[in-house]
Amino acid sequence: MTELKTFNRTEIPNWCPGCGNFGIIAGVKKTLAELDFKPENTVLVSGVGCFAKLPYWVKVNGFVGLHGRSLPVAQGIKLANQNLNVIAFGGDGDGYGEGGNHFTHACRRNINMAYFVHNNGVFGLTTGQYSPASEKGRKSKSSPLGSTEKPVNPLALAISAGATFVARTYAGNLKEMVEIMKKAILHDGFAFVDIIQPCVTFNPQHSFDYYNDKVYYLDDKHDSNNKLQALEKALEWEQEEKFACGIFYQE
Ligand code: SF4
Repeated sequence: MTELKTFNRTEIPNWCPGCGNFGIIAGVKKTLAELDFKPENTVLVSGVGCFAKLPYWVKVNGFVGLHGRSLPVAQGIKLANQNLNVIAFGGDGDGYGEGGNHFTHACRRNINMAYFVHNNGVFGLTTGQYSPASEKGRKSKSSPLGSTEKPVNPLALAISAGATFVARTYAGNLKEMVEIMKKAILHDGFAFVDIIQPCVTFNPQHSFDYYNDKVYYLDDKHDSNNKLQALEKALEWEQEEKFACGIFYQE
């Protein structure tokens, strides 16, 4: 196994203290180490947002591109050199808003790579506008009377668009997150993981305490090979304020 410290840089992330991104970067490094990946064969690709700084602080190859455009860059890298381990990152604003079109088509294109979206339900880097993942009624700098829009359902979208691996995990549970990340990366095809990531500064109502209370884990009763059941499970979140984590669907 590659030592975890192989992926450490000397620079310290400048995310806000308590940000969920710290859990995700710890999970990414642990995943790369446990998969025995080498820095020279690994590429992390991101776009714009607080999440997008992640490749700065992992000692592998990295590409930080335009808002919502991590997927076309990552797909190009993978097509050019299929021996590379390519992981793309998005944010809920970046990936479900600006990059929504790329997301839909990457799902049906099914290139062999993983896509991890840090979903904190807010535009954090630009100091707190509501995002495509914010709940209806969210009051923010850009929606002072409350958002009138229903949030996107990324899991249902990915399943219906043809993704062959669809999962949700939580930045507050490192062990489970690493298991999901490893399975996503090892999946033969396009693997999408929505990661619940608390933004403690601009979305404080959705804190770790909030999610610790609402997150639960899929068990053996869930058949991840059954697309209809996966879709029903993905739609559950629109009816009830709870968040299933685990593999919703895989082919
Ligand atoms: Fe994290 Fe939110 Fe701070 Fe950005 S603004 S670093 S997402 S806590």
